[in-house]
Amino acid sequence: MDTKAIVAVKKAQKNLVDTIEEVLELLEINFRQYKGKEVLIKPNVGVPAPPNKGINTSPQVVKAVADLFLKKGAKVIIGESSGVMDTTSTCFEKSGFIELAKQGYHMVDLKDKNLEYVKINIPNGKHLKKIVIPRIILEVDCIISVPVAKTHSAEVVSLSLKNMKGIVPDSFKKKFHLIYGVHNAVVDLLKAIKPHLSIIDCTVAQEGLGPIAGTPVEMGLIAAGIDPVAVDAVVTKLMGFEPLEVRIIKLAHESHIGTADLQQIDIKGICLEEEIRKFKTPEEVLKEILPTAETLFISPKTCSGCRGCVTGALWELKNKNLLKTLENYTIITGPYEELPYIKENKVILMGNCTKPHKEKGDFFIQGCPPWPGDLIGIILGEPVSKI
Ligand code: SF4
Repeated sequence: MDTKAIVAVKKAQKNLVDTIEEVLELLEINFRQYKGKEVLIKPNVGVPAPPNKGINTSPQVVKAVADLFLKKGAKVIIGESSGVMDTTSTCFEKSGFIELAKQGYHMVDLKDKNLEYVKINIPNGKHLKKIVIPRIILEVDCIISVPVAKTHSAEVVSLSLKNMKGIVPDSFKKKFHLIYGVHNAVVDLLKAIKPHLSIIDCTVAQEGLGPIAGTPVEMGLIAAGIDPVAVDAVVTKLMGFEPLEVRIIKLAHESHIGTADLQQIDIKGICLEEEIRKFKTPEEVLKEILPTAETLFISPKTCSGCRGCVTGALWELKNKNLLKTLENYTIITGPYEELPYIKENKVILMGNCTKPHKEKGDFFIQGCPPWPGDLIGIILGEPVSKI
């Protein structure tokens, strides 16, 4: 008889090391297996944002995971490669991770040019047959994916599966978004490199305009599991979404990376139904704040670069009470065969992917990704790249 995947969830106590140890004990993990082994903790520190806003993994949670595994005799490395718009060192600095480096934790920038990179085959890769990764990813004994729980404008949620995108070089990250589709590429990547353990930071999560311009949500939980699909499924449910409606989780489930069938998951530590809290989606928030349905068109193929840029700019306009100024504008971003809107509003084309339609717009903001300040500048009458 098949055994069920176990996912453990506990309320975060003041002592996070104790919380994480208790969560992992519920998974019946044998800590002795880590003695003397190299453990790489992969947080999500994709953007230079202040800590504990649900944008990046909390440095306190990562520190607690590191302390626990150090206590168990492991050699711990904290490795991350930021999003394509920023350097990892800037993200570490702005997100509170620099303090961990100062305290002597072994931090590795996974996009450091001095690292050795290797090309590996992907067994049964549907979209990716080979991938380049830093050699250190192959050399460590164990990878622990430690993302923060947050909504994502392209993928509904961003959790431990999507967090693994951060181990590939920037050139591949762009291809993931634009050529293969993030869900397809990440699931192929997982066929070659799967985290041994996933610990999801649900202390302060993020809803709404995720992954970077949303609202923090105090969940106060830590979730973990050996099966990354099962952990993501449970946390997705906790956020009020159906796991199999999230394409990366559905595809990982169908590709037998793990199970997203909640009936096949033994959830320990909480009563799932009692802890569910409906997170707002990015679309729900945009609908609430934008003046008209024709204010914004985001192509389904738009990567998180332009999505983050647009949502960041809109959020700033909202905070300045300036969203009304958008009434006569239509913003279009991402790759489109045909523009979805070219009527009476002034059309702002955002990002290099819209360049083929440049002549049809009133404004074109170049950049890959573009700069949110250019969009704000146009709206406020200070255009930077007027056609
Ligand atoms: S222009 Fe925008 S959507 Fe296109 S690849 Fe660059 S960041 Fe992504």
